[in-house]
Amino acid sequence: AIISTRRPAWIEISENAIQKNIAVIRELTGAHHFIAIVKANAYGHGMAQVLTAAKHANVDGFGVATIDEGIWLRQYGILEPIFILGVTPVTYVDDLVKYQLIPVVTSEAWLNAAVNKLSSQASLVISIGVDTGMGRIGIRHHDELQRVVEKINQTDQLILKGIGMHFATADEKDEAYYQKQVQTWHELVDDLPLPQHIWYHLANSATALWHEQPSRDAIRVGAAMYGFNPSGKEMLASQLTPALTLKAELVHVKQAEAGASISYGATYQTKQPEWIGTLPLGYADGYARQLQGMYGLLPDGRHVEIIGRIAMDQLMVRLPEEMPIGTVITLIGKAGDEEITLVDLAERLNTIPYEIATSLSTRLPRKLV
Ligand code: PLP
Repeated sequence: AIISTRRPAWIEISENAIQKNIAVIRELTGAHHFIAIVKANAYGHGMAQVLTAAKHANVDGFGVATIDEGIWLRQYGILEPIFILGVTPVTYVDDLVKYQLIPVVTSEAWLNAAVNKLSSQASLVISIGVDTGMGRIGIRHHDELQRVVEKINQTDQLILKGIGMHFATADEKDEAYYQKQVQTWHELVDDLPLPQHIWYHLANSATALWHEQPSRDAIRVGAAMYGFNPSGKEMLASQLTPALTLKAELVHVKQAEAGASISYGATYQTKQPEWIGTLPLGYADGYARQLQGMYGLLPDGRHVEIIGRIAMDQLMVRLPEEMPIGTVITLIGKAGDEEITLVDLAERLNTIPYEIATSLSTRLPRKLV
């Protein structure tokens, strides 16, 4: 992919915010191991930038979605345990061994197939995935778990690093389903002959923020580390500091006469002579086309409305007065006393902040500030 560096549209990631959020969650949960979830280009925040900040905060491990993301981390110099949260096809067992990545064991069949692929001297570090009600991946039955644990205990080439599960509703006020999953966890796991010193990792951000957990040993945290509220606006998370700011500079400023049309489809007409600014980013950068009518922030916090259709690489804002080229407009983040959050944009687009963040394309340069 082409990586942009020379562009007056960029993302700033606050190292201070990430470190503060990690400290807040550690304090709140008392967890022994903090696994920083950095899949999908660190939730769109920028892998290298987030790794730097998380390493300075001495996190204990990392979580990624795919083996390629894990290999990228190793090649970047990460030495901590790396958990692959998604299913890794057993075809890649040699690479798991080579890069010391921890796949999730999602079934007895997966484990048997992986062992069959394992070369004779190699050892594979693994984590067991238990499905207590997420309904996505993992083992659902006690007898299968029992056989998997016995097989691991009997096989010198297999090293068990952890066992985990994922909550489906930890971000909701209603606790009933959460408690049901907790109960299922106890029924499935409590009497398994598990080795000592493995990591029990059950909590995502919402669990860490709002619930008592069956085990506080390790937590897998994404959203809260980045400082956005995993529940949108359902629950309070005022102790978090957003790490991401999206900014762009005006690259073109004009006064359009009354009755002038702006952008594709000529959907916006000026009512009077208006000052119009052009920003060099658009929907291909992850600033969704449906955000027409949203606003950005001037440095003093005044709103500038996005007018006309958002194009692939550019959009227009209505300025209160003539402004110089290079004026910085904040599209996500704080300016003056105003703030636009990932959650605000998610509400407008009828989605979740995760999707807004992970949609921000690699075409936007990321800077750690
Ligand atoms: N654990 C698993 C298995 C996940 O899939 C995710 C993210 O989707 C996380 C942890 C982190 O979740 P959050 O960003 O809500 O903390």
